Amino acid sequence: MKESAILQCDDVTVEFDGFKAVQGMNLKLEKGELRFLIGPNGAGKTTMLDVICGKVKPSAGRVTFDGKVDITRKKEHQIAELGIGRKFQAPSIFPSMTVAENLEISMRQKRTVFATLFAKMAAEERERIEHQLTMIGLQDKTAWRAGGLSHGEKQWLEIGMMLLQEPEILLLDEPVAGMTDKETEKTGELLHQIARKRSIVVVEHDMEFVRNFASKVTVMHEGRLLKEGSMDEVQRDDRVAEVYLGK
Ligand code: ADP
Repeated sequence: MKESAILQCDDVTVEFDGFKAVQGMNLKLEKGELRFLIGPNGAGKTTMLDVICGKVKPSAGRVTFDGKVDITRKKEHQIAELGIGRKFQAPSIFPSMTVAENLEISMRQKRTVFATLFAKMAAEERERIEHQLTMIGLQDKTAWRAGGLSHGEKQWLEIGMMLLQEPEILLLDEPVAGMTDKETEKTGELLHQIARKRSIVVVEHDMEFVRNFASKVTVMHEGRLLKEGSMDEVQRDDRVAEVYLGK
């Protein structure tokens, strides 16, 4: 039996002062899927991420999490608690704390910062952090101040912080913007590694990154779904070429 989708957006419409930023948009994400959401500026991609994480409420439509939970009207923090994590472009890390401290704080977010720093960590918690450090490639920079990391490393640290909260879905807004080629490639590999266990939606403008790392792409245009499929299928579509690739 096929598992139900981890996320399903049905007929979602978002209006800002009467202007329809998103119109009847559908998006279905399977468990363990890495989906790229692309389209020209103003297509409604960020607004869709905002709807999924509860920051923006749609005027019509429905968002369902894990096949059964209607999250359309839930508050942002409730949606986060259910397991949908959102990462914005600018990393929200604590720059004056070390890499390890940032991860510890994220893992034990329900405690106060003070208690987190001074409480003794259980062996199991220590292991989770070690595992995360290796996954994001910062195992040799545990004691570095987060503010001293490179741009790419800061992004990975924040992704590591998100992962310690064990989200089912990660929503990422242009994760490779401003990264070097090498950092971009490492990020693509990291996303694939994460998608073995979790589901990811990435809004992305870097088409080379999308070409290299996307298996399935959703193209939006003027608030609507324009095309969905593999990168090859999407690139062969005349409408996509017309509106997006400028051909
Ligand atoms: P994308 O991420 O694809 O570039 P957005 O989702 O940011 O597109 O925006 C879609 C449209 O909605 C744009 O025309 C944008 O100007 C408009 N928009 C986005 N947020 C707001 C807002 N808070 N108020 C008014 N208009 C908005």
